[in-house]
Amino acid sequence: MEDTVQLSDLLQQVDSSQDELVSLLQNLVRIPSVNTGVMPTGNETPVCQFVAQTLARANIGSQIIESAPGRGNLIARLPGSNGSPRLMFMAHTDVVPVEDESQWQYPPFGGEVHNGRVYGRGAHDMKGMLAAEIMAMLILKRAGVPLAGDLILAACGDEEAGGTYGFGWLAATHPELIQADVAINEGGGAPIKTPKGLTYLLNIGEKGRYEVHIMVQGRAWHAALPWRADNPLYKVSTILKRIQDYRPQIDTSAPIFAHLHTLLDLPAPVTNENVDALADALATDRPGESAIVKACSRMTLTPTMIRGGVKSNSIAEQVTITCDVRTLPTQDTAYVYRELQHILDGLPDVSWELVCTATPSASPADHPFAEAVRRATAIAIGREDFGWLPGLTTGFTDARLVRPLGTVVYGFAPSHPDADPNLYGAHNKNESQDIASLITQTRMLVALAWQTLAR
Ligand SMILES: [Zn+2]
Repeated sequence: MEDTVQLSDLLQQVDSSQDELVSLLQNLVRIPSVNTGVMPTGNETPVCQFVAQTLARANIGSQIIESAPGRGNLIARLPGSNGSPRLMFMAHTDVVPVEDESQWQYPPFGGEVHNGRVYGRGAHDMKGMLAAEIMAMLILKRAGVPLAGDLILAACGDEEAGGTYGFGWLAATHPELIQADVAINEGGGAPIKTPKGLTYLLNIGEKGRYEVHIMVQGRAWHAALPWRADNPLYKVSTILKRIQDYRPQIDTSAPIFAHLHTLLDLPAPVTNENVDALADALATDRPGESAIVKACSRMTLTPTMIRGGVKSNSIAEQVTITCDVRTLPTQDTAYVYRELQHILDGLPDVSWELVCTATPSASPADHPFAEAVRRATAIAIGREDFGWLPGLTTGFTDARLVRPLGTVVYGFAPSHPDADPNLYGAHNKNESQDIASLITQTRMLVALAWQTLAR
């Protein structure tokens, strides 16, 4: 029987498993693994238990390892005869909190299906992809596809708070469990329309993130006698002006820029000199792409919070400005430090600290695995006429915690070509996942595993 299984049979099985796939996602959404970032939180173990039971019914073994009580991480494996290459399906099981449930059209933990979509917190980020990964594994196992390499499913917690209890913890304490040659994760796959038609973004890397806390010292006094005080709020304006006037160095070395001029039908390749003119030209009709062009070509330094003062009739002793910093994979901590030193140079009564919350990372854009993902996508959507853009994500994912283990990780959960990415609502109200894209993702994952691992 084994020798007669064809990829087309497996894809057929994906299509006929739609009800099971949808039900998987509904069940995942109904387990409220909300991560506030403050312990105790997350409670991802029940998600792991549900996944483990689902896999066990198909005789797929898995283990759940808790990094702290309730904070489970699940690792499942379809062993191959050679044990290599190893392909890992990555997912995070936690979700961000729901701010105001009354604003939601459907209950955020109901997993209700309306208009071809599954609604609920985490439906898109990223229990949808997790459901597709589980379904792909089930289909490969049920069909008895003989594998040469291992297929690993790693569904971990705590991504929304930085992965300390999830992939970060596993990488530090049990790296052998998530050791893989290549891995696929969230963070890419939205279809974008370019002059070349349908184009998919493969996320090969992500920007780093820092927080800068700028402390401005003053002297407190009763607000009725302001001459006796040294009001730190006045000094804040100078600092904010310097930050606003900061012109970051332009760097178009990211692989995305090598592809843009072909995809966008530009007269010339993108360079450090013309990238801003390009972004400005795109701003009206394609604000999303314009912002990505800018974000992938420089570090950003953005004030996000200001804190100071305790009472309206008291002049503050100190004011703290917090900034969000996003760096390119080519920029290290020393670089950020130098830039800040330059911006804040010579200002009296100012001290600052730099906190790294995520290091930047990238996998090579030209690794054969990128072509394998592209090929699997072509098979999944049944067409070859699409563009392919290796991009950087401006946020960060668990990929940065796995890349240092030597794994090539791409962020790619392809949406159906007709899906509207504006409807996903990740981290927002009315989050939802369209069922057509769930099928597309499962087809892609099955095709990817087949190409990478099948004997
Ligand atoms: Zn996510």
